[in-house]
Amino acid sequence: MTPTERILRDLVAFDTTSAKSNLELMAYVQDYLSSFGIASRLIHDATGNKANLWATVGPDRDGGLVLNGHTDCVPVVGEVWQSDPFTLTNRDGKLFGRGSADMKGFVAASLAAVPELIAMNLERPVHLALSHDEEIGCIGVRTLLRDLSDRGQKPAMCIVGEPTLMQVVTGHKGGRAYRCHFTGHAVHSSLAPQGQNAIESAAALVMFLKGVAADLAAGPSDADFDLVHSTLSVGMIQGGTAINIVPADATVTFEFRNLLEVDQQEIFDRIEGEVFSRILPEAQQRFPGASATFEQIYEYPAHAINANAPLVSAMKHIVGRNDHSKVAFGAEAGLFLRELGLPTVLCGPGSISVAHRPDEYVERSQLAKADAMLRRAAQEFCK
Ligand SMILES: [Zn+2]
Repeated sequence: MTPTERILRDLVAFDTTSAKSNLELMAYVQDYLSSFGIASRLIHDATGNKANLWATVGPDRDGGLVLNGHTDCVPVVGEVWQSDPFTLTNRDGKLFGRGSADMKGFVAASLAAVPELIAMNLERPVHLALSHDEEIGCIGVRTLLRDLSDRGQKPAMCIVGEPTLMQVVTGHKGGRAYRCHFTGHAVHSSLAPQGQNAIESAAALVMFLKGVAADLAAGPSDADFDLVHSTLSVGMIQGGTAINIVPADATVTFEFRNLLEVDQQEIFDRIEGEVFSRILPEAQQRFPGASATFEQIYEYPAHAINANAPLVSAMKHIVGRNDHSKVAFGAEAGLFLRELGLPTVLCGPGSISVAHRPDEYVERSQLAKADAMLRRAAQEFCK
């Protein structure tokens, strides 16, 4: 086992599903860092049960490189695994375990690099920025970024180690999700015209959203993405209680993913406008007490860095791959850009195609590439 693999085995053993605390994992990281004389700081959330971690190798001054990884992972509930998801298991050069790709592999590689980074006598710092609650809407890192900007900390660039098969990724889509709850008026179904059917309001919204999705598909596009345009999808509908009752409640849950050049707020304003200027007034003509409310479930900004930016060219050279792409999955890179203005790329071991699935794995060869990339990046950017 390489040092990175040993640390990954330890990290995977902590069940840091987003709903749970990550403090035990963070205590492990702090112990590990302090064994090399590296101090680290925890930035807790409001509950005190979760924390981000910030640590600096090399001189604590402006400039330098941030290595960002999230410590939480998605649940294993309902999944059938060939081996225990919290026991890193090697089969044919693939290391299986929850979070092995997304994204404890990169976190392990970053930690394993620490002794060599210390020995390099860096002129500019390498910072470790580990976050919590990424998987439920990039929640945790926001506190960390606020803390950094309050302290006036000014790093020069950031690598987000999401699984990209070690390709340089120059952007990701942004996203928002909402729940829209309609209330109507329940009556016996034999008296249907006297009620107000909340499911009909929900259905009107679903049909409108389908049109918004079509407009997004016809809107701005970016050939660096597999799916070149912004998207919208209705994920859930709930409503009604019995076949013979006109339903008084219905809920539509939807999400959209936007290119950086497509305004998230404009998309939402259009949807909200339709509900409050057409769908709800129609319902209220039949039942004045009908209502509609939106609840935002999450939002995170899109990310993009120019393909000709110095960081991108340097990283392509470092990983020995001249191609780049953008990805549709959400990540924290957009927040590093929005909150700190940091040039940021995504590059990390493993494939997103095995993440969030049973038998998630990272290949040992991918971890070795991540190890090499981190050393070369420190040499390039911090010496
Ligand atoms: Zn991830």
